[in-house]
Amino acid sequence: MRPPMQTASSRPPRGRVLITGGAGFVGSALAAHLVRAGREVVVLDDLSGGRRSRLPVDARLEFLLGDAGDPDRLRALLMDGERITRLVHLAAVVGVRRVLADPEACRAAHGRLAAALEHALAAVPVDRRPRLFAASTSEVYAESDGALREGGPLRAEDGCGRWAYAGSKLAAERRFDRCATLWAEDAAPVHLRFFNVVGPGQDADSGMVLPNFVERARVGAALEVHGDGRQERTFAHVEDVARCLTELLAREHLPAGPLNVGGTAHATIEDLAQLVVERAGSSSLVVRVDPRQSCGAEFEDVRRRVPDLSRLRRLSTCPPSRSLVEIVDDCLAAHPRDTALAAGAGRNVCASPAS
Ligand code: NAD
Repeated sequence: MRPPMQTASSRPPRGRVLITGGAGFVGSALAAHLVRAGREVVVLDDLSGGRRSRLPVDARLEFLLGDAGDPDRLRALLMDGERITRLVHLAAVVGVRRVLADPEACRAAHGRLAAALEHALAAVPVDRRPRLFAASTSEVYAESDGALREGGPLRAEDGCGRWAYAGSKLAAERRFDRCATLWAEDAAPVHLRFFNVVGPGQDADSGMVLPNFVERARVGAALEVHGDGRQERTFAHVEDVARCLTELLAREHLPAGPLNVGGTAHATIEDLAQLVVERAGSSSLVVRVDPRQSCGAEFEDVRRRVPDLSRLRRLSTCPPSRSLVEIVDDCLAAHPRDTALAAGAGRNVCASPAS
């Protein structure tokens, strides 16, 4: 069969996309969307938290096992073959459980990754330098009762404990902004401040709240909510996020700076737990626990995290929009009871509504 004829507007943009951490939860969904959109994708991942099996098998996708913190490897990748025009930097130490296990190691890892990118980009000629889209997090925002805007108050870079994650993401944003000479005019980095991206395939072990609830509901184990369970979060389906990013990566002109990337599925953690139990038809109880028991005595929670999506809506024609029921149903569908048992669900992990 002959391939469909492509018009100038339907033709995929030129150049390859490099995704560091592309075998992770967000990266693999993005890689799949990009490939479906006709783009050539290179994934560089050390598989410390990701899985190669998440990635589609497609001639347009090249998987490279390796450390994104190695500037020589990055430079070689940027110099060789067809030009990489977009660099999506997602490699990170992710999940409250992993961060709390060694907060300073997390800070050091993020610093090393950012430094490697900066050095690699500085070592390639300007006409081979890709536009950088670097994953940040909604955790960089200071606590607020209102929706969090890109220009709003931020946390300190040197926060300790769980805040080492947010601090190191903020430090990376600022580091990339400081190297102004690296970027072509109108092509400074975009900092993707993700808000609770969830969906099928997310590891409960990472400490993310929804996969943990789904696993536990599937085996009838109690769903543990921290404190009074009134913490508010907004969730986005990973497929919506991947589709939205695919659109943004194709844009020739996109303003630089921080960009909230999130959805509209808003709930308290207690309501989320009840919804998961209801939609799963599970006998699980929802119980309140002191987060200091599972996450350590120093653990600090965030009451409310709701994104202001005005900027994203101005830039994207398809911002994430799936409802909470759709998201929960999709996660449950990908996690039937047998899978839950096989995965050893029901373990007690620090499942925080972090982002
Ligand atoms: P993930 O853990 O699934 O993916 C991270 C990937 O990075 C993994 O595949 C891991 O193997 C890889 N990696 C780590 N260190 C590496 C290194 N040195 N070299 C190469 N690869 C390395 O996490 P995710 O949920 O897909 O998150 C992607 C990005 O988005 C991360 O930067 C994360 O901080 C950010 N983020 C995610 C969320 C969310 O809700 N999922 C929220 C806020 C921010």
